[in-house]
Amino acid sequence: MSTSAQSPAGPSAPAADRARTGDTVTDRLVEANVRYAADFEDPGMDAKPVLRVAVVACMDARLDLHDALGLALGDCHTIRNAGGVVTDDVIRSLTISQRALGTRSVILIHHTNCGLESITEEFRQELEAEVGQRPVWAVEAYKDADQDVRQSMQRVRTSPFLLHTDDVRGFVFDVTTGLLREILPAS
Ligand SMILES: [Zn+2]
Repeated sequence: MSTSAQSPAGPSAPAADRARTGDTVTDRLVEANVRYAADFEDPGMDAKPVLRVAVVACMDARLDLHDALGLALGDCHTIRNAGGVVTDDVIRSLTISQRALGTRSVILIHHTNCGLESITEEFRQELEAEVGQRPVWAVEAYKDADQDVRQSMQRVRTSPFLLHTDDVRGFVFDVTTGLLREILPAS
């Protein structure tokens, strides 16, 4: 006698099996990962990016860094946050990227129609009014993406922690055309 032919997908299936069928967005992503891993082969790489480059970019969902820049697995570090702004934590990641993992070029990417253009630093006061505590971080809102890219380049170039600040370039990605437009640093 064998019970191995029982179907796991019936109405009395356990919660773990129901989750695998995609009840939430996270369940769907985990399911996709199972398919990804099925075809995955160990690339045999170490942690050092092949192209020795770190890309700092906005977290915007319309910006697919690997496709937009022709990057392959293992090529680069990607450091992303709201706006792609150079915060202390980005400097932290860049410092580790350069000093521990061998990168030497930095590419900064903002983009058109960024969510940060529609909020202001008053966001912090609004948060304080709502929750009774003002965040320690700046919102880093901006109205002019070009100017903010210039400021970001300047923050990287003047960081005392970085080893390599000679190859730092900044761009604005157009979410409607997919093209990068280079921003020249402030002279
Ligand atoms: Zn953005």
